[in-house]
This record gives sequence, structure tokens and C-alpha cells, in this order.
Amino acid sequence: METLTKEQQQFLLDSIRDIPDFPKAGIVFKDITTLLNNHVAFNLLMAHLETKYKEYDLEYIAGIDSRGFIFGAALATRLGIGFVPIRKRGKLPSTTICEKYELEYGFDEVEIHIDAFKNKVGARVLLIDDLIATGGTAVAASKLVVDTKATLVEVCFLMNLTFLNGKEKVEKIAPVYSVLDIL
Ligand code: AMP
Repeated sequence: METLTKEQQQFLLDSIRDIPDFPKAGIVFKDITTLLNNHVAFNLLMAHLETKYKEYDLEYIAGIDSRGFIFGAALATRLGIGFVPIRKRGKLPSTTICEKYELEYGFDEVEIHIDAFKNKVGARVLLIDDLIATGGTAVAASKLVVDTKATLVEVCFLMNLTFLNGKEKVEKIAPVYSVLDIL
């Protein structure tokens, strides 16, 4: 299942629920809980990612807080490699490096354990999240992986909100793959 058919893509899209005006007015929130509780959809997605990424000779999957943990950890066990969480500031207990990024109003920060990839220079890492919107979160998380001196092989999203052009920002750092392009 290297490439998903249009029908399979539509099936995955249909398994994701749109919640208008969450968390605030004007945002259409893409709710993946309805994909996760549909074992056929969840398995289709994970089988696709496993087939694609088993060819990449990866050593770690890094997942972005918090929905990136779900897909990232599931993929890591399928590929037989380690999982690394990239968390919002103040959640990781050991020594971290931190990256600040701009939100619509204000700033946010993400962190990674400095030894997350066991200090291996060039460790082959795939970064994953559920969705890319403006790209701010993924750019910051990508910088963290690069700062550890690992190799960021690719950044993967279940969904890309194409009209916000976030993908282009991340592509300046590493190749990007999105399973579903939302137009
Ligand atoms: P951004 O930094 O703007 O690319 O936002 C990406 C992060 O915010 C990801 O971790 C997403 O899970 C979350 N996010 C942003 N917009 C949405 C949306 N419309 N639906 C669901 N999650 C979203």
C-alpha cells in the first residue's frame, strides 16, 4: 500500500470529523478521534505509513504534542524503532532544548530531550504530526531535531491544510509528505 487510491483517501477523509468553531470562532477543527475509533481506517492509515517508511532506514520517529504521539508511537512499533516525544514547554523532565514560535496571538514553545536520539550524530529521524496548518509548530519541531544533530529524513502529516501554505515553510528544512491534502 505504497500509494493510497483516491477511494482509500476519501475513506480516510470521511472518517475524520469537522467541528466548526473549535477551539474558537472561524476555525474548522479536524477531529481525528473518529478515525482512531474506526479500526479499519486507523489500520489502513498505519499500514500505508508502515509500507512507505520501512524503505527509509529510519532509526527514530519523533512525534509532535499531542496527536503526533498517537500516530508516531504506533508507527514506531510497527517499524521496530524508537519513539521520541516533542512536547509543549515544561512537560519533559530531563535536560531539554527549546524552540519558540509565533502563534496568531503571542508565542508558544516546544521542547525535546537533548539526548533524545542518544547523542547519535546523523541518527535518521522521521517527524510526524496529525495536521499542518500555518507550519509554525512543525518548523519549530523540525529545528529541534536538527539541533540535536540528528538527520531529519522527512516530515509527515496526516492532513495538510494547503490553503495556509505551511508545507512550503517546512520544506525549507526537510522533505514533507502529507497523506491527505485538504483544499
Ligand atoms: P500550525 O502550527 O499552524 O501548523 O498548527 C499545527 C498544530 O495545530 C498541529 O499540532 C495541529 O494538531 C493543530 N491544528 C491547527 N489547526 C488545526 C485544525 N484546523 N484542526 C485540528 N488541529 C489543528
